[in-house]
Amino acid sequence: MKLNSGTLLITGGGGYIGSHTVVQLQAAGYRPLVLDNLSNCVPAVFERIEQISGQPVELIEGDVRDSVLLERIFSRYPIDAVIHFAGLKAVGESVQQPLRYYRHNVQGSLTLFEAMQRHGCKRLVFSSSATVYGPAATMPVNEQAPLAACNPYGRSKLMVEEMLGDLAAADSDWQIALLRYFNPVGAHPSGLIGEDPVGVPNNLLPYVAQVAIGRLPQLQVFGDDYPTPDGTGVRDYIHVMDLADGHLKALQALTDGHGCVPYNLGTGRGYSVLEVVAAFAAESGRPVPYDIAPRRAGDAAISYADPTFSRQQLGWRASRDLAEMVRDHWRWQQRNPNGYPTE
Ligand code: NAD
Ligand code: UDP
Repeated sequence: MKLNSGTLLITGGGGYIGSHTVVQLQAAGYRPLVLDNLSNCVPAVFERIEQISGQPVELIEGDVRDSVLLERIFSRYPIDAVIHFAGLKAVGESVQQPLRYYRHNVQGSLTLFEAMQRHGCKRLVFSSSATVYGPAATMPVNEQAPLAACNPYGRSKLMVEEMLGDLAAADSDWQIALLRYFNPVGAHPSGLIGEDPVGVPNNLLPYVAQVAIGRLPQLQVFGDDYPTPDGTGVRDYIHVMDLADGHLKALQALTDGHGCVPYNLGTGRGYSVLEVVAAFAAESGRPVPYDIAPRRAGDAAISYADPTFSRQQLGWRASRDLAEMVRDHWRWQQRNPNGYPTE
């Protein structure tokens, strides 16, 4: 991307992936403005980012669905591009509360894109998900695989991807990267920022970390009868710092004629639940007790990326291995056993 002002709007920049990306953007000389309604982050994250980067974070507290606020933001700041993280992300919750998910993820995105269009800001990096490939996809999955989301969360991502495809088809000035994340894990190596789920974690790594630290008694492994080497589910875990770097590369790839293009952000290598448990126990030196539970509804046996296209087009590849993911996740967990301070 040719820099004009270097000012970027980062929606959801206080969240897990957004906060790590803000750190990397500041280090690269951009000026990230964060728009976040603080529904899933606490103000302390911005102090931590400043501790890492030495630069304050400009926070606009508000909601991406608020068109009046967006109008003010785009009128006031010379925004070159937007990275759109803000949204809700829990699959199970989306099944219980579909309208809330469509409201935040679809209406929020639509409101944002309309504001961008009104102000001629047509460069966008969108947080999508590997979940848009659906559980029947053949692995490794590349960007041309059929799309088939199978829950409201996944459908909300797919709807936004389709909306953006239509937009770029109608107006060739739009330059859009759809980033399909695999399984983000790990934390900044400082241990100052990381994933801080509310309540009992749904995802494997934060759950394992809380078992290792003693907050939870034991892990339930959801199924050991999958057609995988040890019978447990296989996923493409990717270090959140590699993911953050992928956003920088995607931004830089936004040039005239780019259109709307999906990119896989994964490592291309899968690990089973039991391999993750073993890696965590080895890095932390703590036992991670588990028992085998029934399969979780809707889980695929195996999911991992073919990252070739991202490597070729973005010049990006994940460089951090499972040991580093686990080590950094554990450092964050140890330094912040109860997550971010809330006061
Ligand atoms: P997160 O919940 O940690 O971060 C989202 C941030 O957006 C939070 O700070 C929250 O306060 C804010 N937010 C939510 N709704 C908002 C709204 N309406 N207006 C303004 N701010 C709002 O989530 P994350 O893990 O950092 O994920 C970021 C994005 O990446 C999401 O769109 C998510 O769907 C997508 N994604 C995440 C994963 C994952 O495993 N973490 C995987 C694939 C895709
Ligand atoms: N998993 C598990 N126990 C848990 C959470 C997850 O066995 O408490 C398994 C899950 O079945 C899947 C893998 O860990 O095989 C990754 O699950 P996660 O929810 O982190 O990611 P996703 O299902 O979205 O890929």
